[in-house]
Amino acid sequence: MKKNAPPSAASSSRRISGQTWFLGASILAFLAVGWLMLFHDGRGNNNLAEAASRFKLEDIPFDGRQAFEYLKQLCAIGPRPSGSKGMETQQELLQKHFEKLGAKVEYQRFHGSHPETGAPVPMANLIVRWHPEAKKRILLCAHYDTLPLPLLDARNPQGIFVGANDNAGGVAILMQLAEEIPKNKYEYGIDFVLFDGEEFIFAPEQRHFLGSEHFARQYRDHPPAFHYRWGVLLDMVGAKDLKIYQERNGMFWKDTQPLVREIWKVAARLEVKEFIPRQKDAIEDDHIPLHEIGKISCIDIIDFNYPPWHTEGDTPDKCSPLSMAKVGWVVSEWLKGAK
Ligand SMILES: [Zn+2]
Repeated sequence: MKKNAPPSAASSSRRISGQTWFLGASILAFLAVGWLMLFHDGRGNNNLAEAASRFKLEDIPFDGRQAFEYLKQLCAIGPRPSGSKGMETQQELLQKHFEKLGAKVEYQRFHGSHPETGAPVPMANLIVRWHPEAKKRILLCAHYDTLPLPLLDARNPQGIFVGANDNAGGVAILMQLAEEIPKNKYEYGIDFVLFDGEEFIFAPEQRHFLGSEHFARQYRDHPPAFHYRWGVLLDMVGAKDLKIYQERNGMFWKDTQPLVREIWKVAARLEVKEFIPRQKDAIEDDHIPLHEIGKISCIDIIDFNYPPWHTEGDTPDKCSPLSMAKVGWVVSEWLKGAK
């Protein structure tokens, strides 16, 4: 995912050297801070202290401990970028997991290309269907590829990136949610879609969102027999210090505004205060192609306040079962009452 870049921003495919890259990253970071200050509504600091709910793990019906176990299992595979052995191992693990719980699993295969060599890279979105016959459906999604290298790691940008929060956390919450879906009744059929090629990049200006773009184009060009009423994307939802503001695009688009309000209302009812009912960042993420190409009313649940982002430090110890429990609980409760 990319931060703060408005969807219309032009992107260049220029290759830049390490030094320029570091300078560029510093300037970007500086601009980002400026941007945040500009758009901050000035009440944030007071609210930050309040944004922690009193819950302990055992108070929450969504099993955060198990979700965190899944997160660790995914990270134990090691790096899982598009086209890698790690991705293949992860796919086997996920397919087994979801099929065991009674879902129908399919791969939507396509080819991306290596942004530096141009070589074709096999990619696949993993689609997990619950009640596949239902004509009205909800899309819950996350990306399951990891950044190939920890590009923002000041010490070791060629090091190892396991993507605990970005985005094993989102995948792991869906793995845990899968445990309860067969036990409940829903007004909608539900699809989990795990996107590949979200960030198969070796420099920040390269093309993101290959999987969600492909998925959205297929949905547009070969309309299925069903319709997605809503879409919810989970990205970076496992950090210890959880604060989830309303992502700006979701509040900007008229069709998704009610969904953002509804989910934050569910969080308020449950007293999960980490869902903060105010806007902060505009994030370029998989929800943009889903909305702009697929015309799916999809929002992004994302906590962008995460210092180890795109560094070697994005490891399970920066995440927490309690944060995962809170996010999983809100999504699960919303899903049960989704209209
Ligand atoms: Zn990322």
